[in-house]
Amino acid sequence: MSKHRIAVLPGDGIGPEVMQEAEQVLSLLGEVDPTFQCDVTAFHWNSDYYLEHNRMMPEDGLERLKAFDAILFGAIGDSRVPDHVTVWELIMPIRKKFDQYINYRPVKQLKGIRTPFKDMNQMIDFSIIRENAEGEYSNSGGRLYEGTDRELAIQNTVMTREGIKKVSQFTFEYARSKGLKKVTSATKSNAVIHSMNFWDEVVNEVSSDYPDIEMERIYIDALAAFFVQKPQAFEVVVASNLFGDILSDLGSAVVGGLGVSPSANINPSRDYPSMFEPVHGSAPDIKGKGIANPVAQIWSAALMVEHLGRSDLHTSILQAIEDSIAAGVTTPDLGGKSSTKEVGSAIRNHLKIRI
Ligand code: ATP
Ligand code: MG
Repeated sequence: MSKHRIAVLPGDGIGPEVMQEAEQVLSLLGEVDPTFQCDVTAFHWNSDYYLEHNRMMPEDGLERLKAFDAILFGAIGDSRVPDHVTVWELIMPIRKKFDQYINYRPVKQLKGIRTPFKDMNQMIDFSIIRENAEGEYSNSGGRLYEGTDRELAIQNTVMTREGIKKVSQFTFEYARSKGLKKVTSATKSNAVIHSMNFWDEVVNEVSSDYPDIEMERIYIDALAAFFVQKPQAFEVVVASNLFGDILSDLGSAVVGGLGVSPSANINPSRDYPSMFEPVHGSAPDIKGKGIANPVAQIWSAALMVEHLGRSDLHTSILQAIEDSIAAGVTTPDLGGKSSTKEVGSAIRNHLKIRI
């Protein structure tokens, strides 16, 4: 039996604090279930590394990561290093080099977590699949007539048939594998006439290969309102890079906030490793206080475990998280009094019982 090779990048701020808890969950899985073994290698490519070496990772950093089955990422960000450096020299190169064109975010309400809504009689449970490689986030464009009254900026959206097709196919395949009945596509083709009409057209074409799954198109403005008014109406939402980015943060707020929001950057072909990371940043305001919520990081690790073929263990980890919330062991962001370590160890204790 081969071990799963995992690259761990704890990062900055609370990253290493929550990563420690996630790593301990992985080693517990290995102790309890001999058929699931991880071989973890840590890489401390963070802002301290940058201040010492003037780069976020070594020259052969991507080459070294390539050999792994998956990457578990903490959080990156530090006031001593400009944000664009941490993003453009570490996270983006990994996403691009490893063709992680899918960003997957569960919007799932855990039992015991209060949402901003009252009188909820049905749990919120859907996913957002965001196109992660092209679209509105392109560097095509520029400024004209700089410094004059006529100055203008042009920002081009670049969507390719291939790109839209791949994210749509992934979404419909995901829906089918989970037995879902409906895919919702976020659009704005009434106003963004070139790119979003193309998006609609290609998503529609792909949907005709999946007659068993309903496809609905909703304008992004209305969709944002529905996320708040009727979040239970969704099963899986597919969105372009910008729309998906905004919807993901909205989705996270709807089900309890950053402390409990995981994400995955997926390379579906599996030619390269996928990367799993919490949605939150390095949270410098609570660094070193021992109160960061480790749930988002542990849940991200659970998504990784699922990606590695063990959806049973993913389910057990989520149940253990819910058990520890039910037992009242939560960090202050969820209204509790427990520390990062206490939450981590409660989750592991429940996990031992669940597996
Ligand atoms: P970045 O630029 O790194 O994305 P940010 O300022 O956008 O950082 P976060 O670092 O995610 O945002 O933090 C936003 C707020 O949420 C902060 O007040 C932080 O303390 C809180 N927060 C983030 N993650 C957690 C967590 N795991 N547990 C508790 N609070 C958290
Ligand atoms: Mg942020």
